[in-house]
Parts: sequence; structure tokens; C-alpha cells
Amino acid sequence: MIALKSVNQSHRCTEFVTLMDEFRHMVNEAIRVGIDKKITSKIKLRNELYHRFKNEFHTSYISMAVFKSHALLKSYRRALRTNPCAKKPYVSKNFLIIDSYIYKISYNHIKIPTRPREFVIIPLNDYVAKVLSEKGLKLGNITLTKNKISISLSKQVEKRISAGFIGIDTNLKNSTCVDDTGKVSVIDMSKIVAMKIRYREILSHFTRNDVRIQKKLKIKYGQKQKNKEDAFLHEESNKAVSSRKQIILENLNGMKKLYKKGNGQGRRFRFLLNSWSRFKLHKMVDYKSKWQNGFSVIYVNPKGTSSKCSICEAKVLEERRIVSCPRCGLYIDRDVNAARNILARGMRFVPDALASEAMVQKSALVENLKVDASELHFGTAKTAPELYI
Ligand SMILES: [Zn+2]
Repeated sequence: MIALKSVNQSHRCTEFVTLMDEFRHMVNEAIRVGIDKKITSKIKLRNELYHRFKNEFHTSYISMAVFKSHALLKSYRRALRTNPCAKKPYVSKNFLIIDSYIYKISYNHIKIPTRPREFVIIPLNDYVAKVLSEKGLKLGNITLTKNKISISLSKQVEKRISAGFIGIDTNLKNSTCVDDTGKVSVIDMSKIVAMKIRYREILSHFTRNDVRIQKKLKIKYGQKQKNKEDAFLHEESNKAVSSRKQIILENLNGMKKLYKKGNGQGRRFRFLLNSWSRFKLHKMVDYKSKWQNGFSVIYVNPKGTSSKCSICEAKVLEERRIVSCPRCGLYIDRDVNAARNILARGMRFVPDALASEAMVQKSALVENLKVDASELHFGTAKTAPELYI
């Protein structure tokens, strides 16, 4: 199995400004030609443009620019199928994609060509140098923006057998984890939500007339907030992955569409539901699980996970975030119930398990949960011991 990840660091080089602008121009021009001449093949598009671009731009970057525009064109064509008025893609931010054979990394420095026989050397920071020193890594493309450099990496990992399973139910203010032994742990996300609300309020008080200053402040505060959020999510996802158990998550595809502008919801409601990036946590857990443990995350359909009983699958009644089952008498926190349902769904679909084995696993799991149900009788997410995995 191939595991992917990327490492970032900041840089202060100003030598790339012209090159990035040229790259952006190439991408936009390739998009225009692709639409006008209706070219769908990547190679055809490259052949069409190579001879035109090679006199004006650095030849090493032509292919990457064309491939990037091809990817944008592909998603544009897909969007056209459902929306005939879809906006034509246009890149307005300067950036640069550097192919793996163009740059060189040696002695903790990265060497990038800017013009023929002209190079810029960027020193790597300690963290990035440490990550890159791992054996068996394959270096991928580099994405360069005004002040950030991101190196993508891949490695071949051996498939391993997991030590067990964990189901995670991700919510707005907390994420509840239940493992196959019945242990419950809660990741408290309310701090992140509160921080986002605070930053939003701070920004709303800046009433300068100058748009440029407003923009600068927004970028500054946005970056601060993002750094704090990322640090927290990295810490929590590391804890989840360190248990060496296979993680089961809800499939959130299509979830973002629910809280889009124009769906009849208020601004504050939309802000709150989009404020904590559940996707970010899912992504982190996904790549870390592959990279460190050698097995991928299982995604399950979230439909009905919070409305069905995790013991007997009957419809539950809910009051103040506590659910009760009219059939088997289960009385439990709603998030714990949802996490158990996710766990049970995921374990049923373990790809290597035989049908009979899957049934055994399911019944064994239910046994575990039954024992645990009495202990958790009045357990809520708030009062549950904050046992991190
Ligand atoms: Zn029940």
C-alpha cells in the first residue's frame, strides 16, 4: 500500500514572484485553449501549447502548468453536467508547482531553478529535515506559494493487521470515540468553536475604511486561528492513531452542501456548522493511519447512526442529548450511541473478514457493548471521563 503525506514550511524568498506570475499565466492560458479547442487529453493539450510557451517561459514548468490546468478543466466539465452555467476556472493567486525531477534536496537545502542555470536555495527547517531523513521515502511535487513551501511525500507501507477497531462520531463541539472493548473517550472541540467565534467578533470590530488594511488584518488573524486549530487537530489525531487500531468514520461526502449559502439557514448557523472542520480531522486521521500503522480508515454511511439503538437497532427517543430505547431499555448519551453504531457498521464491512466471521465479530461486539451499557447508564459526553485514546 502506498501512503501519502505532505510537509510544509515557510520561506521568505522573493525570487519566485515573476516565475509564479508566469506559471499562473500559463495555467490560465492553457485553460482558455482547452475550452476553445475542446481538448480533453492531457498530452494533446501539452503538445498544443509546448511550442508556444517554450520561447516565453522556463521549459521545466510548462508540463506542470498544463497538467494543473487539465485537472481544473476536468472538474469544470464535471460541474457543467449538473450546472450548465458553471463558472469557467480562472487562477487568481500566484503559485508554482515544481516537478520532482526539477528540484534537488541535499544537505538540508532545497535547490530550485528559476531561470536556465540560475537557482534559488532554501534551507529546510529542523522538522522538515527530520521528516525527510526517514528511509524509503519518495519525493513528489512541491507546491510553492508566496510564503509557504509544501513538499509531498510517498512511501510503500506493509499491510498490517490492526489491534482492534475504534468508531468515531464527529460532532460540532465534541468527537466521541468508542473502541471494540467498549471504552469511551471524548475529544472536547468546544474550545475551537469558541475561538472561532471570538476571532469572528474581533474582526467585525475593525471598521477601517481602507480595504487593503482590512484585508491584511483578516489574513493575519485568519492565519493565527488556523495555526491554533491545526495544532489541536494534529494532537488529537495523533492520539487516535497511536492506539494502532483501525479507525471507522462517517462518510461526510456531500455534507458541505447542506450548509451552503442559499439553503435558507441563517449566517450564524452556517458559520457554526462550518466552523469546525470535521473534514480536516478526518483527513488527518486518514493519512496518519496509513502512514504510521499501515491500514486505511473505514468509511461508513452515516444515515441513521444517531437515530437507531446500538444494541437492538430499534428507533430511539431523544431528550436533552440522551437517547432511550423503547425496546431494550438502553439509556445512553446520543453521541456514544452514534459512535457505537458507526463502530458496528464498520466492523461488519471489514474487507478481509469472511461473512461468517463478520457475524461473529458483530455479535461479540454487541456482547461487549451490553456489558458496558450498564456502566454508562447516566453517562453523558460531558461527565464521561476524558480518557483519551
Ligand atoms: Zn434497543
